[in-house]
Amino acid sequence: MVQAFSYKLRWRFREQQSLWAMYVHAKYCSRSSPSEVSPSRRHNPVWRHMFQAGQKIQPLMRWVLGNGHICFWDDTWLEDVPLRKVGNRVTQDNSCVLVLDCWDGEEWDDVKLRELLAQRNCPMALLEKIRLTPFQKIKRDICRWTRTGNGNFSTSSAWQLARVHHPENNIYNQFWCKAVTPSMGVFLWRLVINRIPIDTKLQWRMLHMASKCRCCKKSAIETAEHMFISSEAARRLWNYFGKWMFVEAERMDDEGRTILRLRKWRNFFPGTSQLHISSVLPCLIMWFLWLERNDCTFQDTQFNVGYIKKRVELHLERLIISGIMTKEHWKGARHQHTLLVGRKTRRKYTKATRLDWLAPEGNWVKANTDAAYSSSNNKAG
Ligand SMILES: [Zn+2]
Repeated sequence: MVQAFSYKLRWRFREQQSLWAMYVHAKYCSRSSPSEVSPSRRHNPVWRHMFQAGQKIQPLMRWVLGNGHICFWDDTWLEDVPLRKVGNRVTQDNSCVLVLDCWDGEEWDDVKLRELLAQRNCPMALLEKIRLTPFQKIKRDICRWTRTGNGNFSTSSAWQLARVHHPENNIYNQFWCKAVTPSMGVFLWRLVINRIPIDTKLQWRMLHMASKCRCCKKSAIETAEHMFISSEAARRLWNYFGKWMFVEAERMDDEGRTILRLRKWRNFFPGTSQLHISSVLPCLIMWFLWLERNDCTFQDTQFNVGYIKKRVELHLERLIISGIMTKEHWKGARHQHTLLVGRKTRRKYTKATRLDWLAPEGNWVKANTDAAYSSSNNKAG
């Protein structure tokens, strides 16, 4: 996010529409082009970020000429790249030539342009292109952003530019579905990325404390794997509900990691939706295990596996009664929920709707508002 806001700051600076932007420009860019200014230690940290951002967003800015207060060589106003990159001769002269320096009254100054283009050995064909480029001295230069359709800068597009894209992880889809409440979803997400304040995690955060699990008669060190997978209580739960799913409940060996357990249950029924019992049930088991553990820790109750089973079953009943979970979401499971026995699987019907197109009245043109297109005759409308 810091990066995205640095891009925004840079954009505001280049727009030159505020007193702040004019001040920074006067302070740092009075003698050289803004793209030539590199961050240094004497700069304010925020401005340093802003100058660094310039290298990233400079190629994404395009200029529409107004009063010509932009750099002739470094800003992109004629071609898709700055003119500095069009020429094939490198010069040591880095002084900032403004576009307005190349005007003679209301026209382009041919002599000056020829001289400039020759300096860097740019093709003379550019001369004609420059001559045909209009400018308006009474207006400001307008900066356009190439990452949005309308050319306006948006922080969301800057964020898309700055963020690191990771491949989609199907496990997370399980947490954000109708069968799993937002509290459960957030908890499961934190569990998978190891952010649950379990004893060993608190110790890792330098909290000096002894670890003692609440789920076993003979206390053990409380780790996420112990709590949710390998403890006596967790094993009993997984075996109990595993028998609903599979013929053999022992098919669950997965090195005791929570994410692997979630993935493995899902993979037993490939191609099913996030609402399938194989996706929902592991989420519920882990969530109610966590609630029971918290009740024991903070309310001094006795750890009760039977109570967790009841809570999981009650939640499933609610999902079935409310119509969120149907018979098709139990497809392939060994056990059918009693509330679903005798119910028919819902069929999906496709409804055909008639649409009429009416010709517009004279002198009117009708746009293709529904985006209809036929590939057979290559016609739209
Ligand atoms: Zn335990």
